[in-house]
Amino acid sequence: MANPVPNNDKPSPIPAIGTLGGVRLFGVPVRLHFTFVLLLVFLLFIGVGDRQSGLMTALYILALFASVLLHEIGHTLVARRYGIRTLEIVMYPIGGISRPERQPAAREELWIALAGPMVNLLLAAVLLGWIAAHQGLLALKELAQPTDANLAQRIALGNLALCVFNLLPAYPMDGGRILRSFLALHRPEQEATRIAAGAGQMLAILMGLAGLLGGNFMLIFIALFVYLGAFQEGAAARSRILTAGYTVGAAMITDFRTLPHDATIRDAGDLLLKTSQHDFPVLHGGAVIGLLLRAALVRAMMSQGPDAYVAGAMQRDFLRLTPDLSLSDALPQLSTAGGCALVMDAGGALVGMLTSEHLSEFVLLRQAGLKS
Ligand code: ZN
Repeated sequence: MANPVPNNDKPSPIPAIGTLGGVRLFGVPVRLHFTFVLLLVFLLFIGVGDRQSGLMTALYILALFASVLLHEIGHTLVARRYGIRTLEIVMYPIGGISRPERQPAAREELWIALAGPMVNLLLAAVLLGWIAAHQGLLALKELAQPTDANLAQRIALGNLALCVFNLLPAYPMDGGRILRSFLALHRPEQEATRIAAGAGQMLAILMGLAGLLGGNFMLIFIALFVYLGAFQEGAAARSRILTAGYTVGAAMITDFRTLPHDATIRDAGDLLLKTSQHDFPVLHGGAVIGLLLRAALVRAMMSQGPDAYVAGAMQRDFLRLTPDLSLSDALPQLSTAGGCALVMDAGGALVGMLTSEHLSEFVLLRQAGLKS
């Protein structure tokens, strides 16, 4: 068989955990987080009012969903102008998250972050302009009760709300990114990130308290997501700073075991127990043909039994990195690739492995080293 030459420029993104669906928009895979699907079901249940038809309710939810998607497309297209590819868009209950291939510079981040809310502002302006010209705008209090007649204006207001909510100056909202890029002009990146992440957690606590006191279930739900998002952004930024200036080659694992393509699931299980390694490159005549992740190994053990070949369970489409790639650029790719990548040189030879676990040890050591 031909030696599969890896294409290092375009690692195919492997979907984030807990997501489903796989539509592509502008070449970017769009996936739904399972909590988003729960939210849709919840909205459909509570959203069917007696003065609005079911069809219009569905249309309203669909229109807001499309608005959030267009918001993310706004980020994607501006990022593309700076040569930053979007690995995937994941739809969460509080909005979408675009995963960029690399962290944009402060000035790039400002425009990429602004693009999303501006799409919603534009949509609202166009809709309101159209309504004003054709049927006249309704007073705000007439919108409190959803009817088929005020649908378009509620969609416009929904877009205004999306714009304002996303401009809140706190992580993980776009406003947090804008705040951070402004702060980063005059302060070290680490401090700018800490302030934006701190603002996000503070905002989440205030929203959570307001939700508890007012008995607003939705607000508590949103606060929880904002808190988790702010925490994740803070952690991701910390690792980015601690890995800055290092290459994949400097941090990769060079002492690891591989499996031949005709090894069985039993062989792989033995290796899993004997070593501390979780994921194994699969070789055929010296060339890498796949990557067997622990989860796939366990699944194959249960569904096909120990005598099945690893070639049937391995991933042929895995993340390939080069040793000279900067470590902070590898981070976002690794998190969407199931936490394991193979490092290959220009000739396609396997020279190392990089896992999330190993990388967090690297970050931990760096942190300890920086403190002393
Ligand atoms: Zn956004």
